[in-house]
Amino acid sequence: MSTTPRNTRPYASVLDTIGWTPLIRLSRVTRGIATPVYAKAEFFNPGGSVKDRIGLPIIERAEKAGELKPGGTIVEGTSGNTGVGLAMAAALKGYRCIFTMPDKMSQEKVRLLKAFGAEVIVTPTAVAPDHPDNYVMMAKRIAEETPNAILANQFYNQANPDAHFATTGPELWEQTEGKITHFVAAAGTGGTITGVGRYLKERNPNIKIIAGDPTGSILAEYWRSHGEHKIEGSPYKVEGIGQDKVPGTLDMSIIDEYHTVSDRDAFAMSRRLTREEGLFVGGSSGLIAKVALDLARRIDDPDALVVTFLCDTGERYLSKLYSDEWMRENQMLEAEHVTLRDMLGRKDASAPAIVSVAPAAGVRQALNLMALHDVSQLPVMDGDECVGSVVEATLSQRGLETPALLEATVREVMDAPFPSLASDDAIEFAIKLLSKSTPAVLVLEHGHVEGIVTRSDMLRFMMGR
Ligand code: PMP
Repeated sequence: MSTTPRNTRPYASVLDTIGWTPLIRLSRVTRGIATPVYAKAEFFNPGGSVKDRIGLPIIERAEKAGELKPGGTIVEGTSGNTGVGLAMAAALKGYRCIFTMPDKMSQEKVRLLKAFGAEVIVTPTAVAPDHPDNYVMMAKRIAEETPNAILANQFYNQANPDAHFATTGPELWEQTEGKITHFVAAAGTGGTITGVGRYLKERNPNIKIIAGDPTGSILAEYWRSHGEHKIEGSPYKVEGIGQDKVPGTLDMSIIDEYHTVSDRDAFAMSRRLTREEGLFVGGSSGLIAKVALDLARRIDDPDALVVTFLCDTGERYLSKLYSDEWMRENQMLEAEHVTLRDMLGRKDASAPAIVSVAPAAGVRQALNLMALHDVSQLPVMDGDECVGSVVEATLSQRGLETPALLEATVREVMDAPFPSLASDDAIEFAIKLLSKSTPAVLVLEHGHVEGIVTRSDMLRFMMGR
């Protein structure tokens, strides 16, 4: 816990608590990396995201220009966080808010904006940027048609990058005592990276501005080709960053490197930040941290100082990247590595680990054993070695056809031995082997038969997962 006094005086309103978010050193996900990496924790803002910083400045600029008058309406197309920033300021100033939001955004964000009293219109994600149903186009139309309304226009409003030039940039300069060497962020509107980048480069032109972009966004490729390649975006799951069109608030000339990151890598890093660093953040923070850690590893310089940006709180994504079910549905969770040993450990402990029969035993004895233990097959064991197998269905069929067989020994009628696998092999190997002709697999621990996994064991196990 901190012993340095913070918040030692009362504030006039919640808006005065925006900004001066802590800079926190990453110490676990950076293991083996010589370059120090710090994270600017924007989820400490009262609305839970970096976007709190732009709500009030956008409103105040419109008031000053005489565009927004008492009782007026603020309209915006938002991925959610800007909506919170605007709605929080609007709540205190008595303005009404109407937000349009693409349907890929989480339900939590829609409910959050409604909690602040905003009206939310959900629009389809999969439409062209200039389609009338596009969330930005629809916001524009609503602003034009509503009396005494303004469009906050975060994608073109210079109050957005200016807010970061005035607050986020100077905070980072002071918090790192001017030692920051690399700032890593990702552009949604580009307000953060542009404002912070401009400020830092003004203080020290050697500071590098590094950008991350989700696979599917056009921004990184636009930057690489200096706008020469006409590229089409494709859908991706990370929220709040990347675009299918370059925003007016993004100054690409400020960026020194652009890196593309997949949804899968971004979400995996967000989850690591939560579990290993205790920093509960959204997907864009994971994407940026992935870029920052790769960069830190690459530059391998203990005297450098890399700052990554934690844009918003993970609470906004509980039904998405923090839901194992959602992650699995979207093929973004590595398959859980379950070994055969794990599986044997979860079998009914009251039953014997393995029921087997000796080669010299009679067929009747083998059939009785199977009935007694309610199993459909038996390995034939000669000491510690599996020399064959008998299967109830085959044996009883053959016994019915040739009754003399019931008097034979197991050795005379047995089939090939069951295949065996090591106890630390993944269950997937057993799943591949099990079939009608291979109804069971033996599990070996240090060469000794430790147990057996049958088709019905596997089925029961999989159904229980
Ligand atoms: N992450 C999240 C979750 C966001 O909502 C946003 C803003 N849309 C950003 C990152 C990017 O910030 P900026 O718009 O300043 O580029």
